[in-house]
Amino acid sequence: MIRRTLVSTFLFGTFLSSQSFASGNTLHVFMSDTAVDLLKSEDLRKLLLSERDAYRSGTLFPDALYQSSQHSRGEFTHWQGFHNSYLSHILAKCSKGSLTQSGDCRKLFAHFMGTVSHTIGDVNFDRYFVTEVAKRHFRGSNGKAQTYTDFKLEFLATWDWGRGAVFWANFVPTNELAAAYRKAGIAIPPEEINGSAFKLYLLIAVAVKLGSPVMYFVAKREAPWAAENYYSARGGVRDSAEKIAQVWDNFWVALHSGVTTPRFYRKGGWPNFEYGFR
Ligand SMILES: [Zn+2]
Repeated sequence: MIRRTLVSTFLFGTFLSSQSFASGNTLHVFMSDTAVDLLKSEDLRKLLLSERDAYRSGTLFPDALYQSSQHSRGEFTHWQGFHNSYLSHILAKCSKGSLTQSGDCRKLFAHFMGTVSHTIGDVNFDRYFVTEVAKRHFRGSNGKAQTYTDFKLEFLATWDWGRGAVFWANFVPTNELAAAYRKAGIAIPPEEINGSAFKLYLLIAVAVKLGSPVMYFVAKREAPWAAENYYSARGGVRDSAEKIAQVWDNFWVALHSGVTTPRFYRKGGWPNFEYGFR
């Protein structure tokens, strides 16, 4: 019995570590939820609160295609090529007025905003928090620090902040996403989009929660400063949520007041990326 428990714990740990590059999403959803509370725009907050499943699913989505046969598709989904195509697909299909009314357009837009949150979260978290964790715990290795933060902090947030009790339904606008990729010149079979998104959903919405009682103290011992400060340090959950809320608010204003559609851009290299729109 003990041996069987040990074996399954080992297999479970191996499963999670093999997926670790796609983790960090418990924190991403935590950031999105916190950002919704910080929004200045009442319309946008109402919109997102009405479509929680959609924006939370969108928040995971950029890491979904890391699970597919082609890692580069996951990478593409993090940046301006994807965001600009997705937005232009949405605006070709939906009037701006329809975004605040219940229906497919509101859902789709909330999913899109989730994907934007993911990227802003990645950029801010890696730039300020991961580099600080590297200095304090991993002799300056940003890569090792990122492996720790993207994997182990998941288990801490699950308990420390009650994220284990946060549930949502998986929402994947498969055909719309396939159309957005096509617009960017990439053909991805809808079943690949769906399958990858579902795999990641299971990992974050189920497996991380089940794994956290086993992993909690391991994670805490390995990097005590990171374990204490992942919420409040610069680049942590709160700071990243503030950045996300700012970008969401500004984007919402730009979308409605601008003559031209906002376009996303990226500058610099990891971990000092800058990401925004103009
Ligand atoms: Zn990511």
